[in-house]
Amino acid sequence: MPELPEAETIARGLNRILPGRAVRRVSVLREDVVDGPRDGFVAAVEGKCFNAAGRRGKNVVLSLGDSSRLVVNLGMTGRLLPELSRSTHPAVLFQMQDGGCLVYDDARRFGRLAILAAPEWRRWSRTLGPEPLARSFTGRRLHGILARSRSPVRNLLLDQKRIAGIGNIYAVEALWAGRVHPRAPANSVGPRSAARLHRALRKVLRNAIQARGTTLRDYRTAEGMEGGFGPALRAYGRAGQPCVRCRTTIRRIVFTGRPAYYCRRCQGSGHDLRSVHPMAVPSTRPREGSAP
Ligand SMILES: [Zn+2]
Repeated sequence: MPELPEAETIARGLNRILPGRAVRRVSVLREDVVDGPRDGFVAAVEGKCFNAAGRRGKNVVLSLGDSSRLVVNLGMTGRLLPELSRSTHPAVLFQMQDGGCLVYDDARRFGRLAILAAPEWRRWSRTLGPEPLARSFTGRRLHGILARSRSPVRNLLLDQKRIAGIGNIYAVEALWAGRVHPRAPANSVGPRSAARLHRALRKVLRNAIQARGTTLRDYRTAEGMEGGFGPALRAYGRAGQPCVRCRTTIRRIVFTGRPAYYCRRCQGSGHDLRSVHPMAVPSTRPREGSAP
């Protein structure tokens, strides 16, 4: 599932090939990936020129000549490819005036393409949390965000309204690198641990961008390549293997429906969390009206 480093890699790739190219024709082959009516989407893009490609959170953002934005949420399996021949599940085809094309390809079609006029774009962007690689995102700011929530810290990192761009892979990796238990209540992470987690998070994201992201299955760069960060994963997907820091076996736990991987020695154990912080485990409170 594409996260910040994957979206950033795709945006950088597209930025090398898209700006200045005009769209001649848009074919929506799978209407369910397009936000709003198909005709409106087509009319908003046809005849427009692509400007810079960028990113907000996990979304690839393509600026159009009239200052509207084509916001692409890649969902689980979305790809943006410069050639139709590389596409296995084409969903939207942008044919360029120069004879080339851009294909939005999505096998499972959880992705979404939306055209936002400039004011809508600004409004939407404000609903997302800060960018974790922005200069203004400091350790203190992260601590302030964590301090306001009792949710497990892993879940908080995934909440796009609190911090933008982080998904399960990089949340798990940053928590391992920053030595914080994934299920620790966010407000139990003190300022020093938050500072360590902040450094870890930014380092993991930067290294992943440098490696062009992580391909577990479907993700490809705009050049059709797989990401190279997979071998650098230290916790995610490594259950049963030794922690590279202390050789303790990496464990897998599932909460809120998603797996987390952690080292009990480096990141503490879930047991002491449970006894100290009852909010960290699912509520067993009886429903209203049920028998005592
Ligand atoms: Zn360890």
